[in-house]
Amino acid sequence: MKLETACIHAARDLTHGTGAVSAPIYQSATFAHPGVGQSTGYDYSRLQNPTREHAEKLVAALEGGAAALAFSSGMAAMTALMELFSPGDEIIATDDLYGGSIRLFEHISRKNGVSARYADTSDLSALRAAFTEKTRALFIESPTNPMMKVTDIEAAAALARERGALLIVDNTFLTPYLFSPIALGADIVLHSGTKYLAGHNDTLAGFLVAKTPELAEKLRFIHKTTGACLSPFDAFLVIRGLKTLALRMDKAQANAAEVAEWLLSRPEVAEVYYAGLPSHPAYELSKRQARGFGAMLSFTVDSAETARRVLGGVELILFAESLGGVETLITYPVTQTHADAPRAEREARGITDRLLRLSVGIEAACDIKADLERAFG
Ligand SMILES: *Cc1c(COP(=O)(O)O)cnc(C)c1O
Repeated sequence: MKLETACIHAARDLTHGTGAVSAPIYQSATFAHPGVGQSTGYDYSRLQNPTREHAEKLVAALEGGAAALAFSSGMAAMTALMELFSPGDEIIATDDLYGGSIRLFEHISRKNGVSARYADTSDLSALRAAFTEKTRALFIESPTNPMMKVTDIEAAAALARERGALLIVDNTFLTPYLFSPIALGADIVLHSGTKYLAGHNDTLAGFLVAKTPELAEKLRFIHKTTGACLSPFDAFLVIRGLKTLALRMDKAQANAAEVAEWLLSRPEVAEVYYAGLPSHPAYELSKRQARGFGAMLSFTVDSAETARRVLGGVELILFAESLGGVETLITYPVTQTHADAPRAEREARGITDRLLRLSVGIEAACDIKADLERAFG
């Protein structure tokens, strides 16, 4: 089954013989037992819920994993993931990372004895050099947020295997429609389902997808024990959103390519970061390892004043955090997603007051460009 078909039909067997075309919302906290020692397969919604299971089966099928677990947000999934590790363990993380992930590593995981070492994972020698005997996992975001650096996942998987570490990939930006980390050797895929999977900026959700049943069981134990599971109604919204994932990604990506080219022609724009531009250092790698470049891009303008003028001047485009919805959103990483990162570190990575990030939506590309043009003034 092709991915665009799987987005719609991969979990059809879960409508429990009713023939329902749309996934039923099982808004039940608990389930009655047929008798002593018997179960319908559903006992209590923190352990299993048919609607959540439907969303989990869909995401597992799309990612090619043994199983998926649905969480109440991407950060809930990240927090559960970190329970795989013990005090003294280290993980190597991409240095250009979602701000919330850095906050989790630095303010929660570190206190619990698990430390993160940051490396530019798009540079394989830097990645190799970051390993210590304590390294238990690689945590890779690709393309990165917000600088759009791309890591060679097959090479990272080979390094992880050699050193007995897990490879974990945050696939929020490209989605399973465009990228399949598990097929390239990843052990776990993480999603903020809030973004493209749900796709309409109307719910929060998170997923962990495990490559093997053994890993899935470990994560399932953490999921049911720590309890940040996705509610039935939010699972329904994810299932509904997934039906149009392929259509939305195709349109958003085509728009992103057009907007990236147009930005290059603007005198106010200094640099455009988008893996779909032939000038991007990972253009060839992206073509080789993924089925597309996604719809996230960042760009720098000539001054902080211009950046602020654009943020204040957009009308169609919404100045808001988050990404991956049908609406085009513009973000100012320096004050929004990366406000918690130390200034020197932030600037060394290129996150300056001249950097803007766009999550390109599915509107008409000419309307997005016209809005930016008006905002440039
Ligand atoms: C948004 C995001 C997260 C966190 O997900 P939430 O659903 O907001 O908790 C993690 N990783 C990436 C890449 C994200 O964009």
